[in-house]
Amino acid sequence: MADYDFNAPRLFIDAPLRAGSRIALDRGQANYLLNVLRLKAGETVLIFNGQDGEWRAEVAVEGRKAADLVCMELTREQEPAPDVIYAFAPLKHARLDYMVQKAVEMGAGILQPVLTRRTQATRVNLDRMRSNAIEAAEQCGILAIPGVREEEDLGRFLKGLEKERLVVFCDENAPVSNPVEALAKLGNKQAGLAVIVGPEGGFTDQERALVAAHERCVCVSLGPRILRADTAAVAALAIVQSVLGDWN
Ligand code: SAH
Repeated sequence: MADYDFNAPRLFIDAPLRAGSRIALDRGQANYLLNVLRLKAGETVLIFNGQDGEWRAEVAVEGRKAADLVCMELTREQEPAPDVIYAFAPLKHARLDYMVQKAVEMGAGILQPVLTRRTQATRVNLDRMRSNAIEAAEQCGILAIPGVREEEDLGRFLKGLEKERLVVFCDENAPVSNPVEALAKLGNKQAGLAVIVGPEGGFTDQERALVAAHERCVCVSLGPRILRADTAAVAALAIVQSVLGDWN
């Protein structure tokens, strides 16, 4: 991240980005830049749309409540999202918001809610997940917005996975053993990963058997304590990224 500008505000823009293009900001974005950050005409904002890389843009102020951005130059080329599916039993409200934001910061490329026997939240607000993913992307400096998939039954999700994809199954019933060693044994070149974290009520034995039947599956323990699902998300992704992913 050597050439990353940590100081300039970053904004996701839902429009194509080209040198010279002028982007009309919506009221919320204009208010944020002009009144919260107190930016003045000519100041820099970094913008990205998930496809065209990151651009330096300048603020063009139109009165007190409106502003445009003018796209100046490309600062970073577009990069793909990591090939990491984060599959999780959806939680309710604020804890789901938290989990989505943290999973994005930790480098999940796809967010996949999976419904299990003991999942409590069965309706997932995908728009809310998307806006949490965008907010986290703005904050953590990534250029690809993780894909938000519709909720799916665990069995169907597993059926749809490529056989070569390595499933990292986080199970509090797994015998405690070092998860770093378990993953390191697999070598660090993986054809994509899927990390699965269950609901507050845990998995049923039938579900455990279903996951274990996937061609490439490693069952990991996250230590001797039961973690809440949102904590397990961060712990699991930290281990996966440090052994098999982009921390390595
Ligand atoms: N119902 C369980 C806890 C489930 S915790 C119980 O009370 O016994 C929610 C999810 O977080 C689990 O399904 C698992 O995916 C993950 N998790 C929590 N603690 C874990 C641990 N120590 N090792 C592996 N996974 C864990």
